[in-house]
Amino acid sequence: MEKLKYHDILYNDDQLGPYPEHLVKRVDKPTNRTPGPVERVSERDSPFIKSFFGEFGEEIQTGFKRMTVRYPLGGAIADIQWHINKIKESRAPVAAKKAPLPDDPRVLSRHLKSLGYFLGADLMGIGRLPQSAVYSTNVRGNQVEAPYKYAIVFAARKNERTLSASNGWDDIVDPVSFQTYQRLVTQTEVMANYLRRLGHDALPNNMNNYVALMPQVILDAGLGEVSRMGIILNPFLGANFKAAAVFTNLELEVDGYADFGLQEYCSNCTICAEQCPARAITRGQQTLYNGYYTWKLNREACSEFDVLNKEGCVCGRCTKVCPWHRPDMEPRDWAEWDGSLEWLHNNVNEQRDRLVASNFIGEDELTKKWWFRLDEVDGEIIVPTTKNTHKICREYPIQE
Ligand code: SF4
Ligand code: SF4
Repeated sequence: MEKLKYHDILYNDDQLGPYPEHLVKRVDKPTNRTPGPVERVSERDSPFIKSFFGEFGEEIQTGFKRMTVRYPLGGAIADIQWHINKIKESRAPVAAKKAPLPDDPRVLSRHLKSLGYFLGADLMGIGRLPQSAVYSTNVRGNQVEAPYKYAIVFAARKNERTLSASNGWDDIVDPVSFQTYQRLVTQTEVMANYLRRLGHDALPNNMNNYVALMPQVILDAGLGEVSRMGIILNPFLGANFKAAAVFTNLELEVDGYADFGLQEYCSNCTICAEQCPARAITRGQQTLYNGYYTWKLNREACSEFDVLNKEGCVCGRCTKVCPWHRPDMEPRDWAEWDGSLEWLHNNVNEQRDRLVASNFIGEDELTKKWWFRLDEVDGEIIVPTTKNTHKICREYPIQE
Protein backbone atom coordinates (compact mmCIF):
# COMPACT_ATOMS: atom_id res chain seq x y z
CA MET A 1 0.00 0.00 0.00
CA GLU A 2 1.47 3.35 -0.99
CA LYS A 3 1.94 5.79 1.87
CA LEU A 4 0.57 9.29 1.65
CA LYS A 5 3.07 11.94 0.45
CA TYR A 6 3.20 14.94 2.74
CA HIS A 7 3.97 18.55 2.19
CA ASP A 8 7.11 20.27 3.52
CA ILE A 9 4.95 22.36 5.84
CA LEU A 10 4.77 19.43 8.24
CA TYR A 11 8.52 18.95 8.40
CA ASN A 12 9.81 22.34 9.53
CA ASP A 13 9.82 24.33 12.77
CA ASP A 14 7.19 26.85 11.76
CA GLN A 15 4.75 28.02 14.37
CA LEU A 16 1.47 26.15 13.95
CA GLY A 17 -0.90 27.98 16.32
CA PRO A 18 -1.36 31.52 17.63
CA TYR A 19 1.43 31.30 20.26
CA PRO A 20 5.14 30.46 19.72
CA GLU A 21 5.06 27.27 21.84
CA HIS A 22 8.02 25.94 19.81
CA LEU A 23 10.25 28.59 21.47
CA VAL A 24 9.59 27.35 25.02
CA LYS A 25 12.65 25.59 26.47
CA ARG A 26 12.13 21.81 26.70
CA VAL A 27 13.62 19.52 29.35
CA ASP A 28 13.42 15.77 29.86
CA LYS A 29 11.66 15.76 33.26
CA PRO A 30 9.15 17.95 35.12
CA THR A 31 10.65 21.07 36.74
CA ASN A 32 9.04 20.14 40.10
CA ARG A 33 10.75 17.19 41.76
CA THR A 34 8.94 13.88 41.28
CA PRO A 35 10.66 11.16 43.35
CA GLY A 36 7.57 8.95 42.91
CA PRO A 37 5.89 6.59 42.95
CA VAL A 38 2.71 8.40 41.92
CA GLU A 39 -0.32 6.31 42.86
CA ARG A 40 -3.52 6.33 40.82
CA VAL A 41 -6.49 7.98 42.53
CA SER A 42 -10.21 7.40 42.26
CA GLU A 43 -12.46 9.86 40.42
CA ARG A 44 -14.53 9.77 43.59
CA ASP A 45 -11.72 11.68 45.40
CA SER A 46 -12.34 14.85 43.36
CA PRO A 47 -13.62 17.68 45.60
CA PHE A 48 -16.54 18.42 43.27
CA ILE A 49 -17.61 14.77 43.30
CA LYS A 50 -17.26 14.69 47.10
CA SER A 51 -19.41 17.84 47.32
CA PHE A 52 -22.01 16.23 45.04
CA PHE A 53 -22.21 13.11 47.20
CA GLY A 54 -22.45 15.13 50.43
CA GLU A 55 -19.08 14.13 51.85
CA PHE A 56 -18.48 17.76 52.96
CA GLY A 57 -21.91 18.01 54.60
CA GLU A 58 -25.46 18.79 53.55
CA GLU A 59 -25.02 22.56 53.18
CA ILE A 60 -22.25 22.16 50.60
CA GLN A 61 -24.13 19.36 48.84
CA THR A 62 -27.28 21.50 48.48
CA GLY A 63 -25.24 24.55 47.43
CA PHE A 64 -23.29 22.49 44.89
CA LYS A 65 -26.42 21.15 43.21
CA ARG A 66 -27.88 24.64 42.93
CA MET A 67 -24.68 26.49 42.13
CA THR A 68 -24.79 26.38 38.33
CA VAL A 69 -28.50 26.77 37.73
CA ARG A 70 -29.29 29.53 40.20
CA TYR A 71 -27.65 32.02 37.84
CA PRO A 72 -29.76 32.13 34.63
CA LEU A 73 -26.79 32.09 32.25
CA GLY A 74 -25.30 29.12 34.11
CA GLY A 75 -28.67 27.37 33.83
CA ALA A 76 -28.86 28.14 30.10
CA ILE A 77 -25.44 26.59 29.52
CA ALA A 78 -26.38 23.58 31.68
CA ASP A 79 -29.56 23.09 29.57
CA ILE A 80 -27.35 22.55 26.52
CA GLN A 81 -25.05 20.22 28.43
CA TRP A 82 -27.69 17.48 28.44
CA HIS A 83 -27.43 17.43 24.64
CA ILE A 84 -23.64 17.69 24.64
CA ASN A 85 -23.52 14.59 26.87
CA LYS A 86 -25.14 12.65 24.03
CA ILE A 87 -22.24 13.46 21.69
CA LYS A 88 -20.68 10.17 22.87
CA GLU A 89 -23.36 8.36 20.89
CA SER A 90 -21.81 9.80 17.71
CA ARG A 91 -18.45 8.10 18.21
CA ALA A 92 -17.29 6.43 15.01
CA PRO A 93 -16.16 2.79 15.06
CA VAL A 94 -12.45 2.16 14.47
CA ALA A 95 -12.06 1.46 10.73
CA ALA A 96 -11.05 -2.14 10.07
CA LYS A 97 -8.24 -1.10 7.71
CA LYS A 98 -5.57 1.45 8.63
CA ALA A 99 -5.35 4.48 6.31
CA PRO A 100 -2.08 4.92 4.34
CA LEU A 101 -0.64 7.65 6.57
CA PRO A 102 3.02 8.74 6.60
CA ASP A 103 4.84 6.64 9.21
CA ASP A 104 6.83 9.60 10.54
CA PRO A 105 5.80 10.50 14.16
CA ARG A 106 6.95 14.10 13.68
CA VAL A 107 4.75 14.60 10.64
CA LEU A 108 1.78 12.97 12.36
CA SER A 109 2.21 15.12 15.47
CA ARG A 110 2.36 18.32 13.44
CA HIS A 111 -0.61 17.19 11.39
CA LEU A 112 -2.73 16.52 14.51
CA LYS A 113 -1.66 19.74 16.21
CA SER A 114 -2.62 21.64 13.06
CA LEU A 115 -5.99 19.89 13.15
CA GLY A 116 -6.42 20.94 16.80
CA TYR A 117 -5.77 24.58 15.85
CA PHE A 118 -8.15 24.21 12.91
CA LEU A 119 -10.83 23.03 15.35
CA GLY A 120 -10.28 26.10 17.54
CA ALA A 121 -7.68 25.17 20.18
CA ASP A 122 -5.54 28.00 21.55
CA LEU A 123 -2.60 25.74 22.32
CA MET A 124 -1.76 22.13 21.51
CA GLY A 125 0.74 19.80 23.17
CA ILE A 126 1.58 16.11 22.87
CA GLY A 127 3.02 13.89 25.58
CA ARG A 128 3.10 10.31 26.74
CA LEU A 129 -0.01 9.38 28.70
CA PRO A 130 1.19 8.78 32.27
CA GLN A 131 -0.72 5.73 33.52
CA SER A 132 -0.51 7.21 37.04
CA ALA A 133 -2.89 9.95 35.81
CA VAL A 134 -5.58 7.41 34.87
CA TYR A 135 -8.25 7.07 37.54
CA SER A 136 -8.17 3.78 39.47
CA THR A 137 -11.99 3.71 39.67
CA ASN A 138 -14.76 5.99 38.39
CA VAL A 139 -17.57 7.64 40.38
CA ARG A 140 -19.55 4.41 40.35
CA GLY A 141 -16.58 2.47 41.75
CA ASN A 142 -15.88 0.63 38.48
CA GLN A 143 -12.28 -0.10 37.43
CA VAL A 144 -10.89 2.39 34.86
CA GLU A 145 -8.39 1.45 32.15
CA ALA A 146 -6.89 3.66 29.42
CA PRO A 147 -4.41 1.49 27.49
CA TYR A 148 -3.05 4.31 25.33
CA LYS A 149 0.50 5.59 24.88
CA TYR A 150 -0.01 9.22 23.92
CA ALA A 151 -2.14 12.19 24.93
CA ILE A 152 -2.90 14.95 22.41
CA VAL A 153 -3.81 17.90 24.62
CA PHE A 154 -6.03 20.84 23.66
CA ALA A 155 -5.90 24.06 25.74
CA ALA A 156 -8.72 26.58 25.41
CA ARG A 157 -8.34 30.11 26.73
CA LYS A 158 -11.21 31.22 28.95
CA ASN A 159 -12.95 34.38 27.78
CA GLU A 160 -10.43 37.08 28.52
CA ARG A 161 -12.67 40.15 28.68
CA THR A 162 -15.06 38.44 31.08
CA LEU A 163 -12.39 37.11 33.39
CA SER A 164 -10.75 40.55 33.51
CA ALA A 165 -14.02 42.08 34.65
CA SER A 166 -14.74 39.48 37.33
CA ASN A 167 -13.22 39.45 40.80
CA GLY A 168 -14.17 36.17 42.50
CA TRP A 169 -17.38 37.47 44.05
CA ASP A 170 -19.70 37.13 41.08
CA ASP A 171 -21.59 34.45 39.16
CA ILE A 172 -19.83 34.63 35.85
CA VAL A 173 -16.80 32.38 36.37
CA ASP A 174 -18.86 29.18 36.39
CA PRO A 175 -20.42 29.97 32.94
CA VAL A 176 -16.94 30.96 31.68
CA SER A 177 -15.51 27.59 32.70
CA PHE A 178 -18.49 25.55 31.53
CA GLN A 179 -18.58 27.23 28.14
CA THR A 180 -14.85 26.58 27.69
CA TYR A 181 -15.26 22.90 28.61
CA GLN A 182 -18.09 22.56 26.10
CA ARG A 183 -15.91 23.89 23.27
CA LEU A 184 -13.26 21.34 24.20
CA VAL A 185 -15.79 18.49 24.05
CA THR A 186 -16.61 19.08 20.39
CA GLN A 187 -12.95 19.63 19.43
CA THR A 188 -11.69 16.42 21.06
CA GLU A 189 -14.64 14.28 19.92
CA VAL A 190 -14.04 15.34 16.29
CA MET A 191 -10.33 14.52 16.47
CA ALA A 192 -11.03 11.13 18.09
CA ASN A 193 -13.55 10.29 15.36
CA TYR A 194 -11.05 11.37 12.70
CA LEU A 195 -8.41 9.02 14.12
CA ARG A 196 -10.90 6.16 14.35
CA ARG A 197 -11.93 6.68 10.75
CA LEU A 198 -8.23 6.35 9.89
CA GLY A 199 -8.12 2.98 11.65
CA HIS A 200 -6.56 4.11 14.96
CA ASP A 201 -8.35 3.73 18.26
CA ALA A 202 -8.73 7.04 20.11
CA LEU A 203 -10.45 8.04 23.34
CA PRO A 204 -11.44 11.62 24.21
CA ASN A 205 -10.73 12.72 27.78
CA ASN A 206 -13.14 15.61 28.24
CA MET A 207 -15.82 16.82 30.66
CA ASN A 208 -18.22 14.18 29.31
CA ASN A 209 -15.90 11.35 30.05
CA TYR A 210 -12.84 11.96 32.21
CA VAL A 211 -10.80 8.79 32.61
CA ALA A 212 -7.60 10.59 33.64
CA LEU A 213 -6.65 13.59 35.78
CA MET A 214 -5.84 16.44 33.42
CA PRO A 215 -3.13 18.33 35.41
CA GLN A 216 -0.60 15.53 35.04
CA VAL A 217 -1.56 15.02 31.39
CA ILE A 218 -1.13 18.76 30.67
CA LEU A 219 2.23 18.77 32.45
CA ASP A 220 3.52 15.75 30.51
CA ALA A 221 2.39 17.31 27.22
CA GLY A 222 4.68 20.28 27.92
CA LEU A 223 1.90 22.84 28.23
CA GLY A 224 3.06 24.28 31.53
CA GLU A 225 4.69 23.93 34.92
CA VAL A 226 3.25 23.33 38.40
CA SER A 227 2.36 26.68 40.02
CA ARG A 228 1.77 27.84 43.59
CA MET A 229 -1.97 27.69 42.81
CA GLY A 230 -1.52 23.90 42.61
CA ILE A 231 -2.59 23.88 38.97
CA ILE A 232 -0.59 23.98 35.74
CA LEU A 233 0.35 27.41 34.46
CA ASN A 234 1.22 28.16 30.83
CA PRO A 235 3.69 30.92 29.81
CA PHE A 236 1.25 32.45 27.29
CA LEU A 237 -2.13 31.97 28.99
CA GLY A 238 -1.18 31.93 32.67
CA ALA A 239 -3.65 29.61 34.36
CA ASN A 240 -6.53 31.10 32.40
CA PHE A 241 -7.32 28.00 30.37
CA LYS A 242 -9.11 24.66 30.45
CA ALA A 243 -7.85 21.51 28.78
CA ALA A 244 -9.03 18.21 27.37
CA ALA A 245 -7.23 15.45 25.46
CA VAL A 246 -7.42 12.64 22.95
CA PHE A 247 -5.61 9.41 23.87
CA THR A 248 -4.22 7.19 21.12
CA ASN A 249 -1.58 4.58 20.31
CA LEU A 250 -0.67 6.12 16.95
CA GLU A 251 3.11 6.73 17.14
CA LEU A 252 3.68 10.45 17.74
CA GLU A 253 6.52 12.85 18.53
CA VAL A 254 6.23 14.29 22.06
CA ASP A 255 7.00 17.88 23.03
CA GLY A 256 9.03 17.41 26.22
CA TYR A 257 8.45 19.19 29.52
CA ALA A 258 8.28 22.99 29.57
CA ASP A 259 10.76 25.06 31.58
CA PHE A 260 10.15 28.80 31.74
CA GLY A 261 11.46 29.40 35.26
CA LEU A 262 8.12 29.12 37.07
CA GLN A 263 9.39 27.10 40.06
CA GLU A 264 11.69 29.96 41.05
CA TYR A 265 9.14 32.63 40.13
CA CYS A 266 6.40 31.12 42.32
CA SER A 267 8.90 30.55 45.15
CA ASN A 268 9.35 34.33 45.30
CA CYS A 269 5.73 35.35 44.77
CA THR A 270 2.70 34.81 47.02
CA ILE A 271 0.12 37.02 45.29
CA CYS A 272 -2.38 34.21 44.69
CA ALA A 273 -2.08 32.98 48.30
CA GLU A 274 -2.63 36.48 49.68
CA GLN A 275 -5.59 37.19 47.39
CA CYS A 276 -7.37 33.84 47.82
CA PRO A 277 -10.57 34.49 49.82
CA ALA A 278 -10.58 30.92 51.14
CA ARG A 279 -6.87 30.86 52.05
CA ALA A 280 -6.72 27.63 50.12
CA ILE A 281 -3.26 28.41 48.66
CA THR A 282 -0.15 27.97 50.77
CA ARG A 283 2.40 30.77 51.29
CA GLY A 284 5.03 28.16 52.17
CA GLN A 285 7.25 25.80 50.21
CA GLN A 286 6.35 22.83 48.05
CA THR A 287 5.62 19.62 49.94
CA LEU A 288 5.70 15.98 48.86
CA TYR A 289 2.27 14.70 47.85
CA ASN A 290 1.60 11.33 46.19
CA GLY A 291 5.17 11.03 44.89
CA TYR A 292 5.72 14.57 43.58
CA TYR A 293 6.49 17.99 45.07
CA THR A 294 3.82 20.64 44.69
CA TRP A 295 2.24 23.61 46.39
CA LYS A 296 -0.68 21.63 47.73
CA LEU A 297 -4.00 23.42 47.28
CA ASN A 298 -6.57 22.95 50.03
CA ARG A 299 -9.24 21.77 47.58
CA GLU A 300 -11.88 21.42 50.24
CA ALA A 301 -11.57 25.09 51.27
CA CYS A 302 -11.58 26.20 47.61
CA SER A 303 -14.68 24.11 46.79
CA GLU A 304 -16.44 25.33 49.90
CA PHE A 305 -15.91 28.97 48.92
CA ASP A 306 -16.98 28.22 45.33
CA VAL A 307 -20.26 26.82 46.59
CA LEU A 308 -21.08 28.79 49.75
CA ASN A 309 -20.02 32.29 48.69
CA LYS A 310 -23.25 34.28 49.00
CA GLU A 311 -22.11 36.89 46.48
CA GLY A 312 -21.45 34.58 43.57
CA CYS A 313 -20.38 31.10 42.67
CA VAL A 314 -17.06 29.66 41.56
CA CYS A 315 -14.27 32.08 42.25
CA GLY A 316 -11.24 31.96 39.93
CA ARG A 317 -9.65 34.97 41.66
CA CYS A 318 -6.22 33.28 41.88
CA THR A 319 -6.14 32.85 38.10
CA LYS A 320 -7.05 36.46 37.55
CA VAL A 321 -4.59 38.08 39.98
CA CYS A 322 -1.62 35.93 38.92
CA PRO A 323 0.79 38.20 36.99
CA TRP A 324 1.29 35.48 34.35
CA HIS A 325 -2.28 36.25 33.33
CA ARG A 326 -1.68 39.25 31.09
CA PRO A 327 -5.04 40.18 29.58
CA ASP A 328 -3.48 42.71 27.22
CA MET A 329 -1.13 40.13 25.64
CA GLU A 330 -2.64 39.22 22.29
CA PRO A 331 -0.98 36.49 20.21
CA ARG A 332 0.53 39.17 17.95
CA ASP A 333 2.41 40.63 20.95
CA TRP A 334 4.48 37.45 21.06
CA ALA A 335 5.93 38.11 17.60
CA GLU A 336 8.89 39.92 19.20
CA TRP A 337 9.67 37.09 21.66
CA ASP A 338 12.75 35.07 20.83
CA GLY A 339 12.36 32.57 23.69
CA SER A 340 14.36 34.66 26.19
CA LEU A 341 13.46 34.16 29.85
CA GLU A 342 14.54 37.70 30.66
CA TRP A 343 11.96 39.20 28.24
CA LEU A 344 9.32 36.85 29.58
CA HIS A 345 9.95 37.54 33.28
CA ASN A 346 10.24 41.33 32.71
CA ASN A 347 6.89 41.22 30.98
CA VAL A 348 5.32 39.29 33.89
CA ASN A 349 6.92 41.69 36.40
CA GLU A 350 5.36 44.66 34.60
CA GLN A 351 1.96 43.04 35.01
CA ARG A 352 2.70 42.33 38.68
CA ASP A 353 3.56 46.02 39.22
CA ARG A 354 0.32 47.09 37.50
CA LEU A 355 -1.72 44.72 39.68
CA VAL A 356 -0.09 45.86 42.91
CA ALA A 357 -0.51 49.55 41.95
CA SER A 358 -4.25 49.00 41.36
CA ASN A 359 -4.58 47.12 44.65
CA PHE A 360 -5.81 44.16 42.54
CA ILE A 361 -9.04 45.91 41.61
CA GLY A 362 -8.27 47.22 38.16
CA GLU A 363 -10.35 49.40 35.88
CA ASP A 364 -11.52 46.34 33.94
CA GLU A 365 -13.90 45.42 36.75
CA LEU A 366 -15.65 48.74 36.25
CA THR A 367 -15.48 49.15 32.48
CA LYS A 368 -15.72 45.62 31.06
CA LYS A 369 -18.45 44.08 33.19
CA TRP A 370 -21.32 43.08 30.84
CA TRP A 371 -23.44 40.64 32.87
CA PHE A 372 -26.29 41.38 35.30
CA ARG A 373 -26.50 40.31 38.93
CA LEU A 374 -29.46 37.93 38.91
CA ASP A 375 -30.47 34.98 41.02
CA GLU A 376 -33.19 32.34 40.73
CA VAL A 377 -35.16 31.99 43.95
CA ASP A 378 -38.22 29.69 44.12
CA GLY A 379 -38.63 29.71 40.34
CA GLU A 380 -38.42 33.50 40.06
CA ILE A 381 -35.47 35.53 38.75
CA ILE A 382 -34.65 38.35 41.16
CA VAL A 383 -31.91 40.93 41.71
CA PRO A 384 -30.09 39.72 44.84
CA THR A 385 -30.45 42.06 47.79
CA THR A 386 -27.10 41.12 49.33
CA LYS A 387 -24.51 43.85 48.93
CA ASN A 388 -21.15 43.22 47.33
CA THR A 389 -19.13 43.14 50.52
CA HIS A 390 -16.38 40.84 49.20
CA LYS A 391 -16.33 38.99 52.48
CA ILE A 392 -14.86 35.58 52.92
CA CYS A 393 -17.47 33.07 54.05
CA ARG A 394 -15.51 31.93 57.09
CA GLU A 395 -12.15 32.59 58.70
CA TYR A 396 -9.99 29.91 57.18
CA PRO A 397 -6.55 29.62 58.80
CA ILE A 398 -3.64 31.04 56.80
CA GLN A 399 -1.54 28.22 55.31
CA GLU A 400 2.17 28.84 55.92
S1 SF4 B 1 -10.53 29.62 43.00
FE1 SF4 B 1 -10.76 31.22 44.61
S2 SF4 B 1 -10.99 30.05 46.50
FE2 SF4 B 1 -10.17 28.62 44.99
S3 SF4 B 1 -7.93 28.71 45.26
FE3 SF4 B 1 -8.46 30.20 43.66
S4 SF4 B 1 -8.72 32.16 44.75
FE4 SF4 B 1 -8.82 30.52 46.27
S1 SF4 C 1 0.36 34.55 41.67
FE1 SF4 C 1 2.55 34.37 41.89
S2 SF4 C 1 2.85 32.59 43.20
FE2 SF4 C 1 0.76 32.50 42.44
S3 SF4 C 1 0.88 31.17 40.65
FE3 SF4 C 1 1.06 33.28 39.94
S4 SF4 C 1 3.29 33.69 39.87
FE4 SF4 C 1 2.97 31.84 41.08
